[in-house]
Amino acid sequence: MFATLSDRLTATFRSLRGKGRLSEADVDATIREIRRALLDADVAVPVVRQFTGAIRERALGAEVSQALNPGQQVVKIVNEELIAVLGGETRRLQFAKNPPTVVLLAGLQGAGKTTLAGKLARWLREQGHTPLLVACDLQRPNAVTQLKVVGERAGVPVFAPHPGAQGEADDTADPVPVARAGVEFAREKQHDIVIVDTAGRLGVDEVLMKQAADIRDATRPDEILFVLDAMIGQDAVTTAQAFQEGVGFTGVVLTKLDGDARGGAALSVRGVTGKPVMFASTGEKLEDFEPFHPDRMASRILDMGDILTLIEQAEKAFDAEQAEKMAAKLAADEDFTLEDFLAQMSALKNMGSMKSLLKMLPGMGEIRQQLENFDERELDRVEAIVQSMTPLERRQPRILNGSRRARIARGSGTQVSDVNQLVERFGEAQKMMRAMRRGGNIPGMPPGMA
Ligand code: GDP
Repeated sequence: MFATLSDRLTATFRSLRGKGRLSEADVDATIREIRRALLDADVAVPVVRQFTGAIRERALGAEVSQALNPGQQVVKIVNEELIAVLGGETRRLQFAKNPPTVVLLAGLQGAGKTTLAGKLARWLREQGHTPLLVACDLQRPNAVTQLKVVGERAGVPVFAPHPGAQGEADDTADPVPVARAGVEFAREKQHDIVIVDTAGRLGVDEVLMKQAADIRDATRPDEILFVLDAMIGQDAVTTAQAFQEGVGFTGVVLTKLDGDARGGAALSVRGVTGKPVMFASTGEKLEDFEPFHPDRMASRILDMGDILTLIEQAEKAFDAEQAEKMAAKLAADEDFTLEDFLAQMSALKNMGSMKSLLKMLPGMGEIRQQLENFDERELDRVEAIVQSMTPLERRQPRILNGSRRARIARGSGTQVSDVNQLVERFGEAQKMMRAMRRGGNIPGMPPGMA
């Protein structure tokens, strides 16, 4: 799903990695890449313009978080704007105060309405509802039979029209009375939700629109879901607009997202119609269906896994004051001390369980391995050892001779070998900090994460 778009965007972000500061030219180059990626993904032009404009403004604006490097900041902004473009909050079905709730499905032929009807019915049944499917697609050969099959699989009854219309195309059959009778039947039999499957045409035409509008007027639906094949690219937008004018709808269902590498329809439809995507259909099986969550979708598009959660945690754990001190120290060419080392390790501890953090890190082999070997109890040991040192020893660990080390081990309830190990590791960290001073990385963050 959205693989091409994902690849393009992540490649763009990769090129920002390691930059200490973003110039206006950097931001513009990034925006250009994002714009190209979106246009190639078939995202509607006005949506692209709005989206890139918002990102540019925020990336250049005063929005500076001390915990994030510029590359991470751009990712964060793009993620938030993606969520907004996808509709912000998850939109849930509105149920009628007086059941049955009527859900009308509209869309082109082949969009996946009938399949969707079954998926939605199954999903609702699993949540304790008692849906009824109503077959109002009397035009497509076998549509009624198909709905019956789907209904059976979903474990949901199907209200079908007179037997003559079953199994064959019948252009003369009027779906409006069927729809009306279906809703009436649901009321009598106490089904709390009615899902009305309507006919589609291969293209948008007036007869189709009129028929769907007549069914709408006869059934007064609480939700009209426009079912849209995500794979039709640019056409998605014009089709959506035509349905919006012809029938109107309250929400969108994107189908065939499993085959959509580009994501253009998903990213455009909300911006173009103002109506939210409510469900996603991701395969031919009844269970290939999920409510559409803009935040999770954005994170899939950005291929971020849980990196965003990681970024949030880093922001929380990050101690701005300590970072400032560290920066001043580096600027003044002062050495990194054991106290700083301790502060860094505690910052890591604040970031939550190492094991769960590890799962959030994509493609950071080296640091992942380092963290994998990291024992959280070790932090307590390090803390105890450093606290058993005199202030002078903390600043100048090279004075730590054998007797001092023995004293520290006793004081901290550890072994001399633990003290030795810490001093050695600290020496390495100190070297790394010197290297960073030359290379420019974020102090206060473990090396490699910034
Ligand atoms: P309708 O004409 O709108 O009722 O469309 P159908 O429900 O008959 O679906 C048309 C075709 O698309 C069928 O072959 C379905 O199996 C297939 N289809 C529907 N939804 C999806 C989906 O989410 N992913 C994939 N890969 N195929 C789907």
